[in-house]
Amino acid sequence: MTVIVDLDLCQNHGQCVYAAPEVFAFDEDEILTYHPEPPQSQHDKVRTAVTACPVRAIHLVGGP
Ligand code: SF4
Repeated sequence: MTVIVDLDLCQNHGQCVYAAPEVFAFDEDEILTYHPEPPQSQHDKVRTAVTACPVRAIHLVGGP
């Protein structure tokens, strides 16, 4: 699973950080950072983050 966030769309709502805090975080400038290839153990949380994002900025490429 590869995670791509469209940072042009992202409005820093933070739902993804809440859903998967080990994958998504805000840096000191409040810019979203994320793990582009999260481990299998995080995949369910990442999928939750995808559906939680109000602007649909998070995209998943590949599987599983
Ligand atoms: S939930 Fe969506 S809009 Fe909010 S910080 Fe995450 S990617 Fe950005």
